[in-house]
Amino acid sequence: MTATPRKQPQRMCVSCRTRRDKKDLIRVTLKEDGTLTADPTGKLPGRGAYLCKDEKCIRTEIKAHRLSKGLKVSYDEEDLGRLVGEILQLCGMN
Ligand SMILES: [Zn+2]
Repeated sequence: MTATPRKQPQRMCVSCRTRRDKKDLIRVTLKEDGTLTADPTGKLPGRGAYLCKDEKCIRTEIKAHRLSKGLKVSYDEEDLGRLVGEILQLCGMN
């Protein structure tokens, strides 16, 4: 009788590789047109990754282009700033 059932499914942040409850992470999805978007519902189609609701994780990951590598998408600083802002806003962080 030691097992405690988990109420929340867990996912790993692709940036810092910490496992957290899914609700503590934000899903970022690579859309068909090759752009990244925040996916707070977790229901958008496309390749997705989970990130901590943490500006550092989000910024680091998006800057590293790990999500967009396969599609040769590149973001300039302005796009990055906008995307990070959008994600943070969806996280309720600004
Ligand atoms: Zn993280």
